[in-house]
Amino acid sequence: MPDSIPSFNEPRVAVIGGGPAGLMAAETIAAAGHKVALYDAMPSVGRKFLLAGVGGMNITHSEPHEKLLTRYSKSSAFLKPYLDNFSSQALCDWIHGLGINTFVGSSGRVFPTDMKAAPLLRAWLHRLRELDVEFYPRHRWVGWTDEGGLKLVEQKNNFIAEKIITADAVVLALGGASWQRLGSDGAWVNLLREKNIHVSNLLPSNCGFDVDWSDKFQSEFAGAPLQTVRLMATDSLGVKHSIRGEATIAKTGIEGTSVYALSAKLRDSILAKGFAELIVDLLPDLTTEKILAQLNKPRGKNSISNFLRKQLNLPAVKVALLRELTPMSIWQDNLQLANTLKNLSLKLKVFRPIDEAISTAGGIKANELTPLLMLKNIPGVYCAGEMLDWEAPTGGYLLTACFATGRVAGQGVINYLQRNTV
Ligand SMILES: Cc1cc2nc3c(=O)[nH]c(=O)nc-3n(C[C@H](O)[C@H](O)[C@H](O)COP(=O)(O)OP(=O)(O)OC[C@H]3O[C@@H](n4cnc5c(N)ncnc54)[C@H](O)[C@@H]3O)c2cc1C
Repeated sequence: MPDSIPSFNEPRVAVIGGGPAGLMAAETIAAAGHKVALYDAMPSVGRKFLLAGVGGMNITHSEPHEKLLTRYSKSSAFLKPYLDNFSSQALCDWIHGLGINTFVGSSGRVFPTDMKAAPLLRAWLHRLRELDVEFYPRHRWVGWTDEGGLKLVEQKNNFIAEKIITADAVVLALGGASWQRLGSDGAWVNLLREKNIHVSNLLPSNCGFDVDWSDKFQSEFAGAPLQTVRLMATDSLGVKHSIRGEATIAKTGIEGTSVYALSAKLRDSILAKGFAELIVDLLPDLTTEKILAQLNKPRGKNSISNFLRKQLNLPAVKVALLRELTPMSIWQDNLQLANTLKNLSLKLKVFRPIDEAISTAGGIKANELTPLLMLKNIPGVYCAGEMLDWEAPTGGYLLTACFATGRVAGQGVINYLQRNTV
């Protein structure tokens, strides 16, 4: 027999998913005086949030609000009210309120002073406990009963118990489907589709791409950074996008911050046409004319590779990449070589699996939700975070939108409970 958690006289809210979106919803609702129980499938909450803090927790961006909104491209209009309501500045004030200082890096990205997520999460969980939020780790939500109860499975070592709980309002904040070992696995997609809720397919966002490197190139350069490059891609509407920065040669292909920034365009082009072209400018600080002038200088006894290294300051990985992707005929013609150094073409046909991606595109379609993020088909059930249909590049934009939607879903629950108690 499934266990039942006793019902309370006061309105009771279940938040399912203890990532940044769910925790923010829980805080908002509990701060308004409602009883919140938070369930998470994992033994502890905030695992992806903690991982995000490993390489330096980039929590938001300091650029002007209107500029920040554009980072959500197709989803800017959908997210605008939520980001207006809880902006990057409001997010920074909230972080400071937890006793964590922030600083703005040279790129405009905002980080906690010690770059870590753990102190922030610790302070946050302390606040939530003070607000009487109850935590139920190792509780996986697996769907609804016919009567609308929430079915949960508690799993602890060899012990498995099925529980059915009722709640006056629910927030689902179950994340996307990347890095499944941290808890978010996208299993919720079918549960919502069974309820006739339109969920667009989950796809990798901020992801790498496969390139069939030769054994020699792969063994010598896998893991090597491609520093100071300009990457360019054309989207499905023919609009050109370019970004200056850094990429990394991976064993399987190419990845890194600048690749991630173009990954939505590249991915969509692969989905539409079967391939995408990534153009790499290996020398973004030199014009073709300047490069040609250098190439036309006497080479002496230097091999062409050595000459490129010395004359143009090209690191070994860039020379090897050029060799890997261009026929010998190009190397014999200085003008063609100069042009290729500025426009090295990489044909991409496959994006890396979603589990490896930083984030997830796709999710619950905006038209399935009320302005305060309640599912129109299931009154009293609100959704927030990466499970909604939006995507953004790295740079703090992902967490910013997760916090903002969590905040609004929490405010929606408060309104809903007030209406129901009137
Ligand atoms: C390596 C890496 C680095 C990142 N760095 C940054 C960064 O610097 N800046 C930034 O803005 N973003 C970063 N991100 C992205 C950011 O971490 C995510 O966008 C954010 O955590 C999503 O928040 P969320 O609350 O929507 O989902 P999640 O954080 O994924 O939380 C969802 C929670 O729901 C739980 N859950 C899922 N299904 C169930 C179920 N059926 N029952 C019960 N519980 C369930 C999961 O266990 C999980 O705890 C990074 C991501 C990765 C992978």
